[in-house]
Amino acid sequence: MHDHRKLGRELGLFDTDPLIGAGLPYWLPDGAAVRHTLEEYIRTAERRAGYRHVYSPVLGKRELYEISGHWSHYSDDMFPPMDLGGEQVVLRPSLCPHHAVIYRSRSHSYRELPLRMAELGGMYRSELSGVLGGLTRVRAIQLNDAHIFCTLDQVAEEARAALEMIRRAYEALGISPARYRLSLPGPGGKYVAAPEMWQRSTALLTEVLDRSGLPYEAAEGEAAFYGPKIDVQVADGAGRESTLSTVQVDFHQPERFDLHYIGADGAKHRPVMVHRSIIGSVERAVAHLIEQHGGAFPAWLAPTQLVILPVSEAELPDAAALARRCAELGLRAELAGPERGSLGARVREARLVPYQAVIGAREAADGHVALRLRDGRRLDPRPAADALTRIGALVEAHSADLWDGAARA
Ligand SMILES: [Zn+2]
Repeated sequence: MHDHRKLGRELGLFDTDPLIGAGLPYWLPDGAAVRHTLEEYIRTAERRAGYRHVYSPVLGKRELYEISGHWSHYSDDMFPPMDLGGEQVVLRPSLCPHHAVIYRSRSHSYRELPLRMAELGGMYRSELSGVLGGLTRVRAIQLNDAHIFCTLDQVAEEARAALEMIRRAYEALGISPARYRLSLPGPGGKYVAAPEMWQRSTALLTEVLDRSGLPYEAAEGEAAFYGPKIDVQVADGAGRESTLSTVQVDFHQPERFDLHYIGADGAKHRPVMVHRSIIGSVERAVAHLIEQHGGAFPAWLAPTQLVILPVSEAELPDAAALARRCAELGLRAELAGPERGSLGARVREARLVPYQAVIGAREAADGHVALRLRDGRRLDPRPAADALTRIGALVEAHSADLWDGAARA
């Protein structure tokens, strides 16, 4: 595997500047293209699975985190509060409290549950500068987050469905878990004290994991302060593990925010919160994708999906027309003309691009392209329109295969 920090810079995906600060990377156009595509994939998958998206601010009053419990259990990881005219405002360390407040802002019937609220939103952690580097330890995080407000009976099915979304996303992204972990509380005052609550939520997640047939290990001292979680661990080149995806059961915050729904009996009942993230933080997900693929991203995710290579100046107009057609179709294409060197040199330079469309005199005359695939396959010349239709379909299907792959969602 590769070091994403080195490769990210070489490929022009992201960078840092001491003037902006440690742990605060910025995204260059190619990195932003990958990130945008990943975020759209997630939002689409969530919409299909019945989630509704919200936006909420990255700041909140100190009281919000006192109620949620972050202030007493999590303040070591939070930025110091800002004083604003006698009021203290905090950069949020997680999205849960905002979503709990949004849920509480309207009354809800049991018929609306499970209510699935999603947001790709910013949050902030005061990581020490000594451990910062690249995209894996950052102070500003974009989290793929969602909270499902549901009845106790619905928790297991929602957790199972979240694990299935994770499985499908990993397949499309070409990554695989190092292991599944059932993260339990450990000794120390980090966790809210409610033994009965921990027992119930741990039993629920254990049942979900047992039924899934996935191998997993229990680990003490890895739970969230408010509840246990299923963590999907990935490993970097050196074998260091980190958590990418997570599914958590929470009885604590619904209690603290006094959430309720009106049941079939007309009375108020307390919902359970399932916190879940399919790809975790966008930063960590992209870091892992860079290391896993060495920059050769799946075609649907690649910053440049197609490079157009006219053999000589004479084919430049055809190449430019093809580039325009790609842009119209939503494909990310780049024209690399003969001013950039010999055809061989341009092919080598584009070695990470999934598709290379070569246009020589014969292809130009016929309206054809000769496709070369990143994996070394060379296809017979075919009508340019057919080639783009096929590539478009593979991209649309998030196919892991560059040409023959069965369509996958
Ligand atoms: Zn949460």
